[in-house]
Amino acid sequence: MTQELFYENFRERTFMRRSRNKLIVRIGLVFAISLIILLSAFIINKFQILGADSPSGSVPIQVVKPPVKSEEKAIKDLIYSKEMLILVNKQNALPADYEPKDLTEINAFAPGRDESARYMRKEVADQLNLMLEDAKVSGNEVLITTAYRAYWLQKAIFDGNVAKKGSVEEANKTSAKPGQSEHQTGLAADLTTPGLNFEISNSFGETPEGLWITENAKNYGFILRYPKDKTEITGYSYEPWHFRYVGKDPANYIFEHGLTLEEFLLELNK
Ligand SMILES: [Zn+2]
Repeated sequence: MTQELFYENFRERTFMRRSRNKLIVRIGLVFAISLIILLSAFIINKFQILGADSPSGSVPIQVVKPPVKSEEKAIKDLIYSKEMLILVNKQNALPADYEPKDLTEINAFAPGRDESARYMRKEVADQLNLMLEDAKVSGNEVLITTAYRAYWLQKAIFDGNVAKKGSVEEANKTSAKPGQSEHQTGLAADLTTPGLNFEISNSFGETPEGLWITENAKNYGFILRYPKDKTEITGYSYEPWHFRYVGKDPANYIFEHGLTLEEFLLELNK
């Protein structure tokens, strides 16, 4: 190799090395700038989140709670009216002069019954009328024998039962003492059908009409108040004809958990 050629090769290699170095520096610069941009974006973003979370932040955070299915509702979250959950039983009597407000006439009333018993609280009468209309549409005619019952009427019925059964104790097994009847609240009704000759009967629960009511009452806010095998708690034998209004959410909860009103109120007040 001549000296001239050597120098020429040397210059060429030097030029190539410098070009390569320049390229590495440029790539490094681009990388560094990108990194700075990314870091800046991250920091700005972070500050924005912190600003929004803090009470003085300019961008308010909207907290959206996931929807809760009704069957998952905690008992305390149930929307209810305390008035509609009034407890009347052998331990909790109403005063003799208690008369519910807004008593409203109900539609489907059995023939030959005391007309003074044809009333319920407005909200209850509306739901009862709706329930019995829907029952009729599905081929089940249901009528009421007694809804609201005044203290004086309950006293007359109870005294009659004492005379018939022979003692207060015997009469009280199936009949409430005056003041201790749910009918005085205007929230309860006794149901029958033409097939039962408009009488209240233990076989109501097995009739197609009784089965329809037992299954659907909760949708209108009613519960079967004295279920089978709950006598120890309610103080009364099974009464398939006696339904009590409590409101739709409590009625659904009571139905799904197989409770009595007494058990429901205990759970509610825990
Ligand atoms: Zn009743």
